[in-house]
Amino acid sequence: MAKEEINSLELGGLEEIVLALGEKKFRAQQIYEWVHKKQIDNFNDMTNVSKRLIEKLDEKYCFTHIKMEKKLYSEVDNTIKYLFRVNGNTIIESVLMRYSFGNSVCISSQAGCRMACTFCASAIGGLERDLTAGEMLGQVYSIQKDIGERVSNVVIMGSGEPLDNYDNTLKFIRVLASKLGQNLGMRHITLSTCGLIDKINKLMSEGLPINLAVSLHAPNGGVREKLMPASKKAPYDDLLRACKKYTERTGRRVTYEYALISGINDKQGHALELAGKIGGSVCHVNLIPINYVEERGFRPASEGTIYSFADILKKNGVEVTIRRKLGSDINAACGQLRKSYSNRNGL
Ligand code: SAH
Repeated sequence: MAKEEINSLELGGLEEIVLALGEKKFRAQQIYEWVHKKQIDNFNDMTNVSKRLIEKLDEKYCFTHIKMEKKLYSEVDNTIKYLFRVNGNTIIESVLMRYSFGNSVCISSQAGCRMACTFCASAIGGLERDLTAGEMLGQVYSIQKDIGERVSNVVIMGSGEPLDNYDNTLKFIRVLASKLGQNLGMRHITLSTCGLIDKINKLMSEGLPINLAVSLHAPNGGVREKLMPASKKAPYDDLLRACKKYTERTGRRVTYEYALISGINDKQGHALELAGKIGGSVCHVNLIPINYVEERGFRPASEGTIYSFADILKKNGVEVTIRRKLGSDINAACGQLRKSYSNRNGL
């Protein structure tokens, strides 16, 4: 039987295991701190744990295997893109963005994606597999080790749909925020989803004050369904209602992501229509020009169009930010680098 990753276990799970092995419960805390605070990658480094217990753990558990395969520095900003190989042959990507307020890491939650958004590079090969909590944590820990500085913000906005890998993503968040681990405040964690309504409803009942970003990209269901086929199961108005409820339940403002595509969703009428639906409610819109993906062919809206789109939203009571396109010279858009690497290396 394949060994289970010790990195993917929450403290409660680890306590049960330790007790079942006839050890004292506090041993679990020690082990958890080795894995998530000191972030070691083998059992022998656990100097305060007995040889006997280490041997028993080693029989059934292993450490997440994560190897940095490539590192690309952007020349236009401070972005660094990482390609990792995890647990065998799975290639995933993560992005580090360095800001004046700290280091922000964008992690992948799946290798590939099955949501089939028509503008996205991650969706091209479909879903390869879900990532484990250990593999998500590994991206943060490896980058932290690489730069020798603490990561202060994590966005789950890389390849994959985190709510399509719900249990592992939630484990990841809880471990990342745990006091005995990385101790990252929930308010410094953002989960981005294409809008799976039942899972958004589930998420708001977990009592986790994380930030929610929803990829909206359209002013109505018609345009949205063409761009994001998965949204056929999530009627536009129902999605907006779920987001409103999320804010009421958690006190956290929802951010709508809106990538402007020339001629498709960037017209003034689109801005007015969107403002009519969300104007005056507690939310925020992030506008970004779509990243050009060769296979997809969509062109970004011009700068002028983006500014007038933003103006219309603002004049109609919508808070809006125009986001810079980060790392455009290093394929930093979702899934682009993983895809080009996999193509070249026959993966
Ligand atoms: N599945 C999640 C998170 C991963 S995608 C989601 O849909 O939110 C991260 C963000 O990048 C999403 O807002 C997604 O719509 C956007 N995105 C994907 N391809 C893009 C592209 N070519 N240009 C700009 N944004 C893109």
